Amino acid sequence: MEITFFGTSAGLPTKERNTQAIALNLEPYSNSIWLFDVGEGTQHQILHHSIKLGKVDHIFITHMHGDHIFGLPGLLTSRSFQGGEGKPLTVIGPKGIKAFIETTLQLSESKLNYPITYIEIEDHLSYQNNGFNVEAHMLNHGIPSFGYRIEAPYTSGKIDVAALKKIGLEPGPKYQEVKNNETFEYNGEIYTSKDFKGDATKGPVIAIFGDTMPCNNEAIIADKATVMVHESTYIEGDKSLANNYHHSHIEDVFDLIETAQVEYSLITHLSNRYTLDEIEEISLSLKSKPSTPPFTFVKDFDSWTF
Ligand SMILES: [Zn+2]
Ligand SMILES: [Zn+2]
Repeated sequence: MEITFFGTSAGLPTKERNTQAIALNLEPYSNSIWLFDVGEGTQHQILHHSIKLGKVDHIFITHMHGDHIFGLPGLLTSRSFQGGEGKPLTVIGPKGIKAFIETTLQLSESKLNYPITYIEIEDHLSYQNNGFNVEAHMLNHGIPSFGYRIEAPYTSGKIDVAALKKIGLEPGPKYQEVKNNETFEYNGEIYTSKDFKGDATKGPVIAIFGDTMPCNNEAIIADKATVMVHESTYIEGDKSLANNYHHSHIEDVFDLIETAQVEYSLITHLSNRYTLDEIEEISLSLKSKPSTPPFTFVKDFDSWTF
């Protein structure tokens, strides 16, 4: 799977960094792309990448602040002309996301040539699609803000050809049945499939957070995640300042990484007051301390494969 950042700034865009948007490419599990937040200008950023809007079949919104949703009307209308015709889209987000999209489309007399299904989250979401399991939990940001935990499907174990040949089953279409079903029938006998294949492997777990100050639900969302994407609006200075604005400080994020035993963290939504040079400098100084967990301050167009 691959995660790409199209905007990494908090609140306002800078000359170097756009507002929030993340694309999650579900390959090899599925041919779809899921977007998380659509800050203003997201469609322009995507034009610099090979992603086609027609492949985006889900958009998850963390919360209703402008730096996370102001790119929606333009991106949704452009999708009609960029391979999206007739391809259904699901938009998942807090209460109000449907009214925001429908009102802007209606007042600008914009028509889409594909259907949208809306799922508005009240408090918690449990959603299954294409073998993926998605859970959303409420964070603490002053307005409803959600963190998404995305669990990729299990990959079934490798077929044990020698064992199957032993019972007389030669390679062929029947092998697919052994791969996908718990039992299979051959020559009038019922066999347990797992006796003829290796152990299934768990797919990666991705945790993508909306804006938040520390709260209890964070550890549930991030629990042993393969990759965590988290905001750190403040990457130096006084921690209480970050929390006063319902945002996270880098020390909060490091604490969460440790509590939830996260494997790797991609840190985004850094205040617009930091230049890329300053971010690099602060990153080097943090990484020089032995107690610092593995992390990267991401830049626009950074991509991670896992
Ligand atoms: Zn924000
Ligand atoms: Zn916010």
